[in-house]
Amino acid sequence: MVQFKNVFTGQESRNYQRAVTSQKSLRAGGKHNDLENVGYTARHHTFFEMLGNFSFGDYFKEEAIYHAWNLLTKEFAIAKEKLYVTIYHTDEEAATYWKKIANLSDDRIIKIKTTDNFWSMGDTGPCGPCSEIFYDHGEQVKGGLPGTKDQDGDRFIEIWNMVFMQFEQLDSDNRIELPKKSIDTGMGLERISAVMQNVYNNYETDLFKEIIAYTENIVKVKVEGEAKFSYRVIADHLRACAFLISDGIMPSNEGRGYVLRRIMRRSMRHAHILGSSEPLMYKLLPKLVDLMGTTYPELRRAEDFASNILEQEEIRFKATLERGLKLLDDETNHLSKNSELSGEIVFKLYDTYGFPVDLTEDILKAKQISIDLDGFNNKMQEQKERARKSWLGSNESKTDKMWFDIKAEFGSTEFLGYYLNEAEGKILALIKDNKLVDTIETSQEKFTLISNQTPFYGESGGQMGDIGYIKSTNRRENHQGRR
Ligand code: ATP
Ligand code: MG
Repeated sequence: MVQFKNVFTGQESRNYQRAVTSQKSLRAGGKHNDLENVGYTARHHTFFEMLGNFSFGDYFKEEAIYHAWNLLTKEFAIAKEKLYVTIYHTDEEAATYWKKIANLSDDRIIKIKTTDNFWSMGDTGPCGPCSEIFYDHGEQVKGGLPGTKDQDGDRFIEIWNMVFMQFEQLDSDNRIELPKKSIDTGMGLERISAVMQNVYNNYETDLFKEIIAYTENIVKVKVEGEAKFSYRVIADHLRACAFLISDGIMPSNEGRGYVLRRIMRRSMRHAHILGSSEPLMYKLLPKLVDLMGTTYPELRRAEDFASNILEQEEIRFKATLERGLKLLDDETNHLSKNSELSGEIVFKLYDTYGFPVDLTEDILKAKQISIDLDGFNNKMQEQKERARKSWLGSNESKTDKMWFDIKAEFGSTEFLGYYLNEAEGKILALIKDNKLVDTIETSQEKFTLISNQTPFYGESGGQMGDIGYIKSTNRRENHQGRR
């Protein structure tokens, strides 16, 4: 819904008042993070396709409920007995419509008191109650109704969430009714596919089955027992990685690039569990492109590039993965259940062997061992301090401060040179005579340019820096570099 944010608040208007969407969604970092659920539940992915319908001051609660109910029970012919709904506990209006439109009995309209059923963008701004629709996959699947202690099981699965945006939160005490009430809904394509294909597990739906069968053919381990779990993680992460790369994200140690790298490394560990001695992920890409490349042409356009990145990243990680796993094994063999692995080892795994913290955490989950996150953070801090101290810099504290400030504000420049000799980037800062400046006036001036990413290797540790050209089509913002 991010693209409609300003439409809801009225800051922006469109020449339409209703919309339907099919959106690529990623929940692997930040506010929504389902990375650790992947493989463990039947219903979570890192990357999934979300279908939505929206009203901007047009239809509201009654019609939204009508449309949802009609689509599910008439168009999709889902049996009414299979469906339950939740509402926010004070939203009597929604309860009334559910009874009127769907003829649902009270025990099928579950009142939820938590913020799970009250949506807001932040502390202020548009907000409102939600109503979610759940599908019952039957008593052979473990799990309880929403609001019960077993709600996280996979028996009752949320397939659709409707947000009734009817208020604006002005400050912590004041909430007013919005003059133009709006609707924002989201339904996971993979979850509704499972329902329509009569399976309870998303990973048993057609697209996933094909990817898993293709992988099995290469890996030659049967999809059963523990291996099934690895196959599912690999299939999920393959999609996430391919879509992220096709959207221009590169693996790196910061920001979005690190979200990608973490997903990549998790899948690579599962490839390792399945006994794959050669890099695996890039070999699966053609199957994914075959399945989804028509709907998402960017996947096909980026195929060669993504294949190269996946292969290189796996070659690099393979070099340390096995030794890291051995260290982890040695360090945890003597630990009992419910104990903690020291922050020092977690840091060593991160720093020397390239294990993202959540990868270590995920591996230890099976042994019921947790990690000392505070200890890890201390080690990270110490390393930063060491870097600061060993910084030779200019010896002039004012100049050094400027560089540290730049690093703090913009983060590291992503180095693309492992994969590319030419790339586009965004200029983040200009420096002239050891000062940050807004503009460079003439072509005679000598200056330093900081960009978010670059194919140029920096001069460091005795290595020569790269030399090349930087071109700008729009002098105010962009640069293109060629080595
Ligand atoms: P859950 O409690 O099952 O994690 P949610 O409350 O996080 O679901 P919403 O944030 O309301 O889900 O997202 C709207 C819809 O998107 C859900 O009804 C579901 O169909 C789908 N969805 C959400 N998260 C995922 C995911 N990780 N993988 C696949 N589909 C998802
Ligand atoms: Mg969720």
